[in-house]
Amino acid sequence: MSLIDVALALPLYRTFTYSVPEGTTGSVAAGSRVIVPFHGGRELGIVVGTGVANDAVRVKSIAAAPDEGPVLSDAMIALCRWIADYYVAPLGVALRAALPAALTGAEAPEPTRAKRRVARLRGELPSLMQREKVFARAPQQRALYELIEAVGGSAAVESLQEKLHFSSSVLKGLATRGLVDVEDETVARDPFLSRARMSPARHTPTEAQRHAIARLSAAPPGHVALLHGVTGSGKTLVYLELLRRVVIEQNRTAIVLVPEIALTPQTVDRFRAEFGDRIAVLHSALSTGERYDAWLALARGEKRIAVGARSAIFAPLRDLGAIIVDEEHESSYKQGESPRYHAREVAIVRARAAGAVVVLGSATPSLESWTNATSGKYELLTLPDRAGGASLPEVRVVDLRVERTTTTPPPAADVTFRLAVSEPLETALRDRLAKKEQSILLLNRRGYSAFIQCGTCGDVTVCPNCSISLTYHRTPEQLVCHYCQHVEPLQLACVRCGGQRLRQRGLGTQQVERLLSERFPDARVARMDVDTTSGKWAHTEILDRVGAGHVDILLGTQMIAKGLDFPNVTLVGVIDADVGINLPDFRASERCFQLLSQVAGRAGRGPKGGEVLIQTRTPSHHAVRCAVTHDYHRFVEQELAGRHDPPYPPDVRLANVVVSGTQEEATATFAATAAAWMRDLLAAKPALRVSVIGPAPCPVERVKQRWRWHVLLKSDRPADLGRMVNYLARRLEVPRQFGLRMTIDRDPQQLM
Ligand code: ADP
Ligand code: ZN
Repeated sequence: MSLIDVALALPLYRTFTYSVPEGTTGSVAAGSRVIVPFHGGRELGIVVGTGVANDAVRVKSIAAAPDEGPVLSDAMIALCRWIADYYVAPLGVALRAALPAALTGAEAPEPTRAKRRVARLRGELPSLMQREKVFARAPQQRALYELIEAVGGSAAVESLQEKLHFSSSVLKGLATRGLVDVEDETVARDPFLSRARMSPARHTPTEAQRHAIARLSAAPPGHVALLHGVTGSGKTLVYLELLRRVVIEQNRTAIVLVPEIALTPQTVDRFRAEFGDRIAVLHSALSTGERYDAWLALARGEKRIAVGARSAIFAPLRDLGAIIVDEEHESSYKQGESPRYHAREVAIVRARAAGAVVVLGSATPSLESWTNATSGKYELLTLPDRAGGASLPEVRVVDLRVERTTTTPPPAADVTFRLAVSEPLETALRDRLAKKEQSILLLNRRGYSAFIQCGTCGDVTVCPNCSISLTYHRTPEQLVCHYCQHVEPLQLACVRCGGQRLRQRGLGTQQVERLLSERFPDARVARMDVDTTSGKWAHTEILDRVGAGHVDILLGTQMIAKGLDFPNVTLVGVIDADVGINLPDFRASERCFQLLSQVAGRAGRGPKGGEVLIQTRTPSHHAVRCAVTHDYHRFVEQELAGRHDPPYPPDVRLANVVVSGTQEEATATFAATAAAWMRDLLAAKPALRVSVIGPAPCPVERVKQRWRWHVLLKSDRPADLGRMVNYLARRLEVPRQFGLRMTIDRDPQQLM
């Protein structure tokens, strides 16, 4: 009878010893799954080594060993051990993150559905004037009609009903009146597979591209390079060439990480054009079963390149030769729940162990990666110019403060439109419409208006579960909490004072879309935000329509800022550059600069050139100023200077300890206990160089009915910080009352 050491995906920082009964047929080698008895129930565990007998405890037998062989390699277990240690997560939780859902028992593989019901707009779209008449007594029908219009003219009935809360009677009404067809549509198993395949574009590399490719080809195992290339500089060509050498010439394997597959169909198309069947695209629209199929194909070596978001870093590839992290600055690489890993950092650790080369690519690298590159820890490779002779677009600032006072007061009907679109931006839009060129407008706020405020007492309608204002949505009409998805109907009177002058404040994408289609009735406007992209393929549908020239103005949130390469887009307008710039987060300016630079980079990628207009009330803010001049270096210099005192990353590393609970006082008290515990620890271990800040309420004090406090830890010695948080997680007991919880977020991406 042998003993094995088993890690369970439970919030316990230890592993357990089990015995393997005679006659067990399945694999119990390290990396295999086993079903074990635990506290009267059964748990799925992963074997991580041989067990050690302990006379004091009676060792239990495993219940089953379902696998024929290990599902995780030794290298993957080692990587998970690093994640568990660095990000302070139980080993079993880190191991679970490395497996596809089909193997974690969390979800059973779902059968692929072959058909879905789709609602499709029928005939000519009525003009705005006609709409007033057609929908005079049916505002709900109008809302639904316009929603389907906004998502590209057709939408799955299921998503309309489930995610957007439209009742079937509204849809039936539209169908009865002949405005909408409802029909069954066969769903392609994987729409990426059915996309028209492009033939690979063969450009002659520029001098800068050639240099980068040469350096990467000659790089020693474990080498990390930061590829800093301005928008449109041709980073993709460098990636493709590196992959060709690694995968085709050396017969090794590779991983390509992108922030979000749905937003980058063009990039994925280019990889598929080049490598065809060697690629497994791991996108979020895959069912559990399809994802497992892809995982198996990678594990068996049938596919040699994994392309995907964050979790693709765990692709079960052997003989890994390269890892590419595109848009390495994107915060979506950080997982928001345990294990709170950052895929970029995991990529570097995995590549070092495997002897692979890492390329971190961005036009606006994170300050962390930039500092590592300038200090010589990473190699810095630069693509300073746009490829193919294009130049960076000219960027102009429209100072909304000046605009407001110097123009003659507009007629009343224009007031709201002017809040969204200044005169210069309107002129530029008109010009593009006349020339049949395309425009992209960014407004990083979804919904109709940002919040509702009482004109009498000033009260703002907030979420009952979170300390955050509710956003007014018009299609369908309701107030929505963007933190917890709480939904409530719009009130007619203020709940506090009963006043009836409820005002909508702050523009959202829904409202700007409406304003645009009223002002430019002939323009084809598409809106892209979380609300119009709930269908699995909605992103791709909208972007394909833009690419095909069926959209004149693409309006959207930050999802439109990335990766798009449309040569006919000659104008980019930023409706409000100041959204988010004043958030109480030390990365607020960096995020703003990145967003403005990225969206500006969508303009002028073709021979017609391009122009960018940024509307702002803070034109002198360095994030805005440096985006206008495309000056990354100057931005970094100023931003770094602001992170010395008080110190913030990259000067120091952070760990955010968040305490939450259902009762306000208990939460605050436990946060104080935790902070005191940490200060005592520091007093007892003077060699640990960590500073403890707080406790303080989190900037968003309450989320989903839980109060939140935090303690921030800073250190310039990562190992010290690691020891401290590991002590904390293991030794400080969390009281079992008021739902108290403590989470530790190492290298947090946001402190809200
Ligand atoms: P980035 O990802 O750096 O923003 P892309 O890789 O999307 O840039 O390339 C931008 C555009 O430049 C693409 O349309 C691409 O086909 C083109 N391109 C890339 N390299 C070259 C080159 N060497 N010569 C001509 N065009 C190029
Ligand atoms: Zn809420």
